[in-house]
Amino acid sequence: MRYSQYLLPTLRETPGDAEIISHQLMLRAGMIRKVAAGIYDYLPLGLRAIRKMEAIIREEMNRAGAIEVLMPMVVPADLWDESGRWQQYGKELLRIKDRKETDFCLGPTHEEVITEMVRGTVRSYRQLPLNLYQIQSKFRDEIRPRFGLMRGREFIMKDAYSFDLDQAGVDLAYEKMYQAYRRIFARCGLNFRAVEADTGNIGGSSSHEFMVLAESGEDAIASCHACEYAANVEKAECRPQPQVCCDEAPPLEQVATPGRKAISEVSEFLGVPASATAKALVLITDSGAPVMALLRGDHELNPIKLKNVLGCSVLELATDEQIEKLTGAPVGYLGPVGMKIRVVADLAIQSGGPWITGANVSDAHFRNTVHGRDFAVERFADIRNVGAGDPCPRCADGIMEMWRGIEVGHVFKLGTKYSASMRATVLDDQGQERTLVMGCYGIGVGRTVAAAIEQNHDDKGVIWPMPLAPFQVLITLLNPKDEAVRAAGERLYAELQEKGIEVLLDDRDERAGSKFADADLLGMPLRVTIGSKALQEAAVELQERRSGARSLLPLAEAAGSIATQVRAALAAGAQEAVHG
Ligand code: ATP
Ligand code: MG
Repeated sequence: MRYSQYLLPTLRETPGDAEIISHQLMLRAGMIRKVAAGIYDYLPLGLRAIRKMEAIIREEMNRAGAIEVLMPMVVPADLWDESGRWQQYGKELLRIKDRKETDFCLGPTHEEVITEMVRGTVRSYRQLPLNLYQIQSKFRDEIRPRFGLMRGREFIMKDAYSFDLDQAGVDLAYEKMYQAYRRIFARCGLNFRAVEADTGNIGGSSSHEFMVLAESGEDAIASCHACEYAANVEKAECRPQPQVCCDEAPPLEQVATPGRKAISEVSEFLGVPASATAKALVLITDSGAPVMALLRGDHELNPIKLKNVLGCSVLELATDEQIEKLTGAPVGYLGPVGMKIRVVADLAIQSGGPWITGANVSDAHFRNTVHGRDFAVERFADIRNVGAGDPCPRCADGIMEMWRGIEVGHVFKLGTKYSASMRATVLDDQGQERTLVMGCYGIGVGRTVAAAIEQNHDDKGVIWPMPLAPFQVLITLLNPKDEAVRAAGERLYAELQEKGIEVLLDDRDERAGSKFADADLLGMPLRVTIGSKALQEAAVELQERRSGARSLLPLAEAAGSIATQVRAALAAGAQEAVHG
């Protein structure tokens, strides 16, 4: 491709609304353009990176035995009614009507459509196992689209769905996808980790997320420094501690804490650490039932764990008004003693104490609060976030560490959630009807490309890993008006393309400085600079974007040597994927 004929609108300035580096660089390198919040044009260079990502995904999905299909983006509401999700999905589902006033949605995920496809086409166990995938645009009306392709509303996803006769079948399908995902992300040159995940509103029993490690990541991950255990903080378990409380605790005593509402204020005023206090939060479930969550003062509530404990799908913090109405106690002085609404307490409350808690009257707290003696708990459960330094829930002496990650892929065992409600069955070898057991497997294509940039850049621009690079080589002509320079450039450009190498030829009539700045910004892994000085020795300069290392190559050998380097870099990625 010739730069002068290409559509590559680079920007010198960082756009104001781009917070994270990948978003800034994708805009500055002319890869994407915002059309509306969370909705983007993929400009030619961005599209090339996306297509590279898709090609790697296709290769590995096909290698794992999955078969490509393409489903519609516009999905009839009937199918979502059958699964029950038309009611449940909430506002991320963009609902539309056609001219006959029939309801449709833009597919945010395709369990319903694929289940309908399979129930209409697969009759016998002999057609199993089956794993079908597509690469397609999804729409989710995200509440806060941000970070460019990282969290868009319209975004490209690879979604795969497996169908098996039984649990052993889906276990195998899941394992194959897990390994395929490892290969995919390793081939992209990403530093990633597979972590245990909550199953969210898709439901099901077992799930892992593939996280690219990056400071800008929206997910918190906890991992053990000693063993293999790693999980999303949404799911990471806390190890229960032995009971240390409270046989000889002195009696409950009310103390004045005038104006001290926050845990930090109370603990400072009473001269105790925050870990000696218990805090009470009031939440409302989807059925409108209030619940008090009781946690150690220095711990954080994990709303997902609490939702799972309560078996509800929505859980919201009560407003100050609701709290006072429901509990009769002033906000800031809430406690479990004499509480009318049900109390769910964290395991740390069960094992520790006595606690300092709110006294349910203004400007007062209780000392020496002991569960069982001074207040009742309906249920003790693990409802807090793991913290750095907590003991590992799996091994004896491991300590938990915290990371930030970008979720690029997600694998789920769905069980029969969709096949049962939508009656997708096959006949087994006894002629008996059996409900299919499903798994689903997603990868965010644009998000993965953005994550690769988060991990591969410097202050000048992108540093593409070879497998994702939109072009493998950039040739910069220092003075394209010089006949010899242009001829050498054209020759190398033609020779490289003949060898199957993807080349961008910067033939623009611009200052050398601005071409070099663009070359750094665009970040192609190998850059060849052709200038009249080196050409006098029949040489061109090769520079590696990542290391900055430069070398002179004889023009006659340049194409061969560069092609060898490109192939070696691609092979190394694939090799690591197999063995890594
Ligand atoms: P998140 O928690 O980040 O919203 P999710 O759990 O909703 O993600 P899944 O339903 O598992 O995501 O979708 C599969 C994959 O699609 C994710 O792993 C992610 O890579 C990608 N993805 C999800 N939402 C978006 C989005 N809004 N923009 C870009 N990619 C997305
Ligand atoms: Mg989401």
